[in-house]
Amino acid sequence: MTQAYKLLTPGPLTTTDSVKREMLVDRCTWDDDYKAVTQKIRRRLLELAQVSEQEYTAVLMQGSGTFGVESVLSSVVGAQDKLLICSNGAYGERQVQICEWNRIPYAHYAEAYDKVPDARKIADILARDPSITHVAMVHSETTTGILNDIQAVGAVVKAAGRTFIVDAMSSFGGVEIPVADWGVDFLISSANKCIQGVPGFSFILCRRAALLASEGKARSLSLNLLDQWRGMERDGKWRYTSPTHVVLAFSKALEELAEEGGIPARHRRYAANNRLLIERMRQLGFATYIGPEHQSPIITTFCYPAGVSFRFPEFYQYIKARGYAIYPGKLTERDTFRIGTIGEVYEEDIEKLAAIIYDFLRERKGETA
Ligand SMILES: *Cc1c(COP(=O)(O)O)cnc(C)c1O
Repeated sequence: MTQAYKLLTPGPLTTTDSVKREMLVDRCTWDDDYKAVTQKIRRRLLELAQVSEQEYTAVLMQGSGTFGVESVLSSVVGAQDKLLICSNGAYGERQVQICEWNRIPYAHYAEAYDKVPDARKIADILARDPSITHVAMVHSETTTGILNDIQAVGAVVKAAGRTFIVDAMSSFGGVEIPVADWGVDFLISSANKCIQGVPGFSFILCRRAALLASEGKARSLSLNLLDQWRGMERDGKWRYTSPTHVVLAFSKALEELAEEGGIPARHRRYAANNRLLIERMRQLGFATYIGPEHQSPIITTFCYPAGVSFRFPEFYQYIKARGYAIYPGKLTERDTFRIGTIGEVYEEDIEKLAAIIYDFLRERKGETA
């Protein structure tokens, strides 16, 4: 086995041994017990979203999170529709790419990476352009760690009578999202983020009426959301080969989320990790890129300290050799790196990481002195 390290990255993330052990058994895709697992997962996801089975339904889709986003955008925004993409990071910009590839009509409202999309500006855009039928936004922008206000945006989208699509990839399961109350029609997330499963599929929570209204709009066979749902809704069968080991691991991860105390308890743990991380890093001279009012508990972008010159690869290798993997920055205009605080990680991991970074900085100072 290669040397193990914990992941301080926002997915894939560190999973429990019990979740990993679920993958040691092979399952048959058309077996009734296996299909029942899929159905149980779908029901449980609706509970976590605080929605009823009458109003909402869950679809599981093979592939990583991007496949889920592309499935929704390419299946529900028709050729006569128009999507408004509200972005403040790379994942919002990926929605633009998806629209380009699929020839989906769209408009783009781009905010600065350290600002949240403004609900009032979105209300103005919707008032000025009646041809916009759908609005899409990322909740937790993993590019920077900023948490967008989907509640405020959902309210203006609903008031304007449009359909609201949310990429809650890195927040669902770690941050409470009352999906119906916040006016979300489609919410996308994936197995390997805050539910703490392994990579292999995404899931989409859909308002049933909005999903059914997408009839005839899909541009792809394998990513056809309505078709995937029809098969699953019948008896829990995935249309094409399902990631069986990943599904079992995810089912276990959902049980462990409930044992921890559900989303409120998981949110408290992530938030405590994040608070401690920011405090320790500040003591070491690292400032956060995002201000405290919009910082998510999921991932944090840190700026290189003034006067200390170091290369990320060297920093990364030093930390990895001591048991943790961190993330490079995703900003072009500033030297930054990112540290995730989700997954099977606790405050003691944060203390250990801070001690490793302290040693790194001390050794660097020793070298240059
Ligand atoms: C992880 C993530 C995705 C999906 O990325 P994949 O690499 O396809 O899993 C999409 N949006 C956000 C905000 C994410 O954090």
